Amino acid sequence: MNVAIIGTGYVGLVTGACLADFGHSITCVDSAASRIEALGRRELPIYEPGLGEIVWRNVAAGRLRFSTDLGSAIRSSTVLFVAVGTPEGYNGEADLSQVAGVAAELARHLDGYRVIATKSTVPVGTGAWLREEVARHLPRPVDFDIVANPEFLREGSAVNDFLRPDRIVIGTSSERAAAIMREIYRPLYLIETPIVVTDVESAEMIKYASNAFLAVKIGFMNEIANLCDRVGADVHVVAKGMGLDKRIGSKFLHPGPGYGGSCFPKDTRALAALGAARGARQRLVEAAIDVNARQRQVIVEKIERALGGVAGRRIAVLGLAFKPNTDDVRESPAIQVCRQLASGGAAVRAFDPVAGAHAAAALRDAAATISFPAGAYEAIDGAEALVIMTEWNEFRGLDLHRVRALMSSPNIIDARNVLDPAQTRALGFAYYCTGRERVGVPEGVPA
Ligand code: NAD
Repeated sequence: MNVAIIGTGYVGLVTGACLADFGHSITCVDSAASRIEALGRRELPIYEPGLGEIVWRNVAAGRLRFSTDLGSAIRSSTVLFVAVGTPEGYNGEADLSQVAGVAAELARHLDGYRVIATKSTVPVGTGAWLREEVARHLPRPVDFDIVANPEFLREGSAVNDFLRPDRIVIGTSSERAAAIMREIYRPLYLIETPIVVTDVESAEMIKYASNAFLAVKIGFMNEIANLCDRVGADVHVVAKGMGLDKRIGSKFLHPGPGYGGSCFPKDTRALAALGAARGARQRLVEAAIDVNARQRQVIVEKIERALGGVAGRRIAVLGLAFKPNTDDVRESPAIQVCRQLASGGAAVRAFDPVAGAHAAAALRDAAATISFPAGAYEAIDGAEALVIMTEWNEFRGLDLHRVRALMSSPNIIDARNVLDPAQTRALGFAYYCTGRERVGVPEGVPA
């Protein structure tokens, strides 16, 4: 099937490459010419494990191409996926200006029946609004259907998530559009991926409710971890004991500095804003947003406790992406902690295996006190505290003897619990973590 993907970012590029791998003929369009030109030079605009292989294989097979020409992509495709950004707008609600821009363009070029499928995360009601927007701009009547087809991939494992999803959600009131969407995803149907076909509004709500539920789960576990620190419990054992209960499940019970990235923060705020506007406040989600903001502060307070204040201190921060295996620093807790340390007068040396350049751009305002050395040990050299903010594998395998020798004061604040408390303390470090602070501390030592 001929398919256009409008917006070639994390979601659009992964969707395009994977649908091409299913055998469809894909044109990925983006209004950012630099992005399309980079792809033309065989440069990936994002870091995503396994993506390059699947992109270039499908380009070579002639099933995947990149263009800035939205009009010809619309005219030559049956399904038009909208995968543009929906950032946070005023008062937390989603900013749909990129989607509105696409709607006008769609209307201008529609010359026969098309399925317009939103992959972007859009508030409940957007499908109906998009139908009106497109219809309003149509120069002459043309038949088209709207489908809400939310995307659940995670950055860092996006290709695998797309090729082996837990479910596909198709929201539409049209039998014809549903049949076309089933055909698009036929290879997944063959591997028995559950497909939920529903109305547009329910599909839109499934995406927000899923992200918000996971955000609540993360916030809940972070609060439990903070309490574990106070009462001497080990949050890892607590999580294991909880997760064995099938009603709870073992995923998303790992504590840390709170969620970040391009989705959870804006999607929780958009759901809270929608609930408030429609007279059905989402109090649990509102609480999760507050708890999450507070959790960064918990990490900063641990650093302050370790050093007796951060002014004038040399602090190494390892990990700047909001999670491992991505270069995305949007709403990364690490960026916020770096900024706060810098504004408190610390000299921060920060390192990330792939997100350094994006982090440097995000932290331009604090450039005077934050530097970005080329490796983890360079960042650690001479530091009075080492803060681990993202659980990249290479930080799990740090040579702690070397770290100890390089640091001028042996303080580790392990926001992701990647190190073993007892072993780390046995090497002479003062070790602070999340929900395991009393693990490996001899009995009788005051908290
Ligand atoms: P992104 O910022 O990486 O990509 C969006 C792309 O759309 C950009 O390249 C931009 O230039 C392009 N664009 C904007 N207006 C355009 C237009 N008029 N015509 C053509 N291209 C245009 O965003 P993303 O992370 O891929 O997210 C896209 C959507 O998917 C968002 O709604 C997001 O919430 C949702 N989503 C993201 C993820 C994720 O992990 N990143 C996961 C699930 C859902």
